[in-house]
Amino acid sequence: MKKVTIVGASLAGLSAARALRSQGFDGELVVVGDEKQRPYDRPPLSKEFLAGRIDEDGLGLESPGEDVAARWILGARAVGLDTTAGAVVLENGTRIRSDGVVVATGARARSLPGPAGLAGVHVLRTLADARALRAELLPGGRLVVIGAGFIGGEVAATAQASGLHVTVVDAVATPLAGPLGAAMGAVVSGLHEAHGVHLRCGTGVARLVGTGQVEGVELADGTLLPADLVLVDVGAVPNTEWLGGALALHCGAIECDHRGRTSVPGVMAVGDCAAWYDTRLGRHDRVEHWAGAMERPAIAVAALLRWRGGGALDEGTPVNVPYFWSDQYDVRVQFAGHAGEADSVTIEEGSVESHSLLAVYRRGDVPVGVLGMNQTRLFDRWRHQLDAALTV
Ligand SMILES: Cc1cc2nc3c(=O)[nH]c(=O)nc-3n(C[C@H](O)[C@H](O)[C@H](O)COP(=O)(O)OP(=O)(O)OC[C@H]3O[C@@H](n4cnc5c(N)ncnc54)[C@H](O)[C@@H]3O)c2cc1C
Repeated sequence: MKKVTIVGASLAGLSAARALRSQGFDGELVVVGDEKQRPYDRPPLSKEFLAGRIDEDGLGLESPGEDVAARWILGARAVGLDTTAGAVVLENGTRIRSDGVVVATGARARSLPGPAGLAGVHVLRTLADARALRAELLPGGRLVVIGAGFIGGEVAATAQASGLHVTVVDAVATPLAGPLGAAMGAVVSGLHEAHGVHLRCGTGVARLVGTGQVEGVELADGTLLPADLVLVDVGAVPNTEWLGGALALHCGAIECDHRGRTSVPGVMAVGDCAAWYDTRLGRHDRVEHWAGAMERPAIAVAALLRWRGGGALDEGTPVNVPYFWSDQYDVRVQFAGHAGEADSVTIEEGSVESHSLLAVYRRGDVPVGVLGMNQTRLFDRWRHQLDAALTV
């Protein structure tokens, strides 16, 4: 293995570069990214950065003085993967041939169908998105958040604390039922109303209203919500179109085995663009969380290095159960496992009213997930137990 190219210069790409070096790869390393910035952290974009508590310098993912000895090609989009020649093709026609490729192109925010270009309508995925939203988050303004997912919830909380009047709308009756199950989804989305944010569920959005500048959001039942500012948080789409069919996909994400190997030998995929096979669930699962993008590249890189070295597949490093956190209002929400696998959930510590609880999800008697709200120490204990019991 003489040369590896990583496409995507964010958390998963940087984690892959670090893992290659820490696992002994001393060949040529190229990292391609279409954003101009060095790798930066996205979670603060909806929290501390949006609130103005940290600035752009505080977002960098690299430690001071860190050097993974890579050639960074930033502000350059990859537009193709030539699997026959083993080459990543850039927009300007450059072809980067290598012995191994790690795809880490992440995801982008999904937008609403309809005419684009109405001022005051935002999505939140990149630093540029966060700068634009932060500039318009003015006290007294009226913000409508479309989509009561985690990013929408965090923006609602940040905006409420900044003195805006906030309404959150969601087409489904119980927001967060997918990741947390219906009962706990209702508890976490209930934080909005407990903090004076209006939550309107079960009615979809018909259209955005305004000429040039957004003035409101019209719901499917005809209600008009006046708005100076709108955040659209209706999910994220994996950035895989650039591959042009070179790799097999699963629901738009790159289909991988349980070690991040794609349909093409020598090409791995990690982070939000990848759907790894989860041997415990018995299906492919795209994990869109920080911890997965941080941890899994080491597993993929180990498999890549062993494959090139002719070694057997390393089954040594376990894949941890999916984990994410979200900070909303004064509550740290943490979840590990798979809520969809559970047939019961019980609150084992704390209470809904106190916004401090630990809930355990079980299938039969077996714990398959754990939710914490302001219970970080207890949650961490449970998370490690789950990892030990359920790791693949
Ligand atoms: C606002 C926000 C808040 C979040 N908060 C949390 C949280 O609290 N907890 C949590 O667990 N997770 C959170 N996440 C999720 C977490 O940040 C992501 O899971 C993580 O960033 C995924 O990393 P990634 O490297 O796979 O993808 P990304 O971070 O999306 O990076 C992919 C990179 O590849 C680049 N790229 C795409 N296509 C190409 C191409 N063709 N050529 C070159 N480069 C390309 C992209 O521009 C991007 O720079 C949050 C995400 C956002 C957006």
